[in-house]
Formats: sequence, structure tokens, C-alpha cells
Amino acid sequence: MGGLGNFVNDDENDTLLFNRLQEHVLEHYPNPDRVGCFDHATLVLFVETPGKLDLEDPKYLHVLRCAECTRDLIELRRLRDERLAEELDSSVGRSIHWWRFACIAAAASIVAILIGVSWRHYLSGRVEDAQNGTPSPISVDLSAAGLARGGDQGEAEKPISLPQRLVEVRLVLPFYSPGGNYRITVSRDRSQDHVEASGSASATANGSHTELRVELNLRRLRPGNYYLGTAREGDGAPYYYPALIRQ
Ligand SMILES: [Zn+2]
Repeated sequence: MGGLGNFVNDDENDTLLFNRLQEHVLEHYPNPDRVGCFDHATLVLFVETPGKLDLEDPKYLHVLRCAECTRDLIELRRLRDERLAEELDSSVGRSIHWWRFACIAAAASIVAILIGVSWRHYLSGRVEDAQNGTPSPISVDLSAAGLARGGDQGEAEKPISLPQRLVEVRLVLPFYSPGGNYRITVSRDRSQDHVEASGSASATANGSHTELRVELNLRRLRPGNYYLGTAREGDGAPYYYPALIRQ
């Protein structure tokens, strides 16, 4: 772990990171029903006196998955900053206000750092998974599906279950499929017009057994029904297999 020290030294980048993560939460974690949200008083503590909260408590990670709490915190911070600016403007007891401002600003930086650290810690797994991390290995066996090829292909078959993640698929093609380069697609219909994920791979044939390994990024796909398409280069139309993306 980089630790708090590195984090503090890296202040400018981290403000940027913090803002970007905040945007990420606003965009990706809408919570209109406010499930599991903090009450107003707790959110105020977050902004005003974070020292009163045990920020090590995992429950505070909620704000990293809740656009509504994040939005409230942004607004509360804005109100606080506005108020602080007004206090600074007033000529009475200026030094006391400066002192208070310094304390509150320090507390705010600490909470920003703590949130940033937890946030980074928390998201590192997910973000890396999504962008450049290791794909989850899964196996899909279509060997027997090939038997239905001659007839009315597809509809009666049990859909292939695929997780909504970055996956490396070990795909066993129907018996006696030829080796060579394949394009694997995931689409909403049995066409190549609305492909939502795809990858290319070279398949090796060994007797009746043919398989390939292909990486597919399924993270952006909504759960639901799709078709997995397999097309061998130069072989005309792809074959389609019903697939189900699950969360
Ligand atoms: Zn919330």
C-alpha cells in the first residue's frame, strides 16, 4: 500500500482523482430511493466535524456508491465554504475566524484524504478489473450445440450464462469445427449490426475437439438476453447461440 504519506505528497493529482471519483459515483451509482443513506445530521458531520466520525468504519464507504449522498456532500461543502467566506469577510474577531477556518479546513482535508484513501483502496480492485485488470476465466462448451446445427438452430437451447465482467472465455466449439481465426461477438440480435462486445482468437483443432480463448469485456452490457456469435474468418455467416448476461 502507498500509505497516507504518498497520498499527501501527491496532493494535486489526488484532488483530480478525488474529483473524478466523485463524478464516477454521481454517474454510476444513482440511488433515487436512497437505500442505506445517511441521515442529514451524519452528512453534516462528514463535512463539518469529520473527527467525530470513525472513518475507518466500512459503513462510510456507502458514500462511494451513492450519487445522492455524494451530491448532498457536495452541496454541504459548498454551503460551508460560502459560510466560511462570509465569516472571513466580517471584520469582527477576524483572527478567531481565521483560526476556526484553519481548523475546519484541516479537518476537511483530512476527511478528503481519508475518503480518497478508502476510495482508492476500494475502487482499485474494481477500476483495475474494468480497465486493465485480470479477466475472470470462464468456460463455455458448445461442442454438443453443434448437433443442432442442421435443424432449427438456437431457440430451444439453454442460454449460455455470462457474467457482466471482463472475462477470458475458454470456448469449446461444436464438434469437428475447423481451426483458424474466429471472431466472437455478443449482440442483442442474430446479426452483426448491434455487436456490444467482441474479440478475435485463433482456434486449435485436435480431432473432433476445437477450442479457443478469447477476451470479452462484458462490463458495459446490461443484464439480459443476447446472442453469442462465432464466425470463422472467410466462412460466411456466423453461428448464434442464446446467451444471458447476469450481474
Ligand atoms: Zn446514500
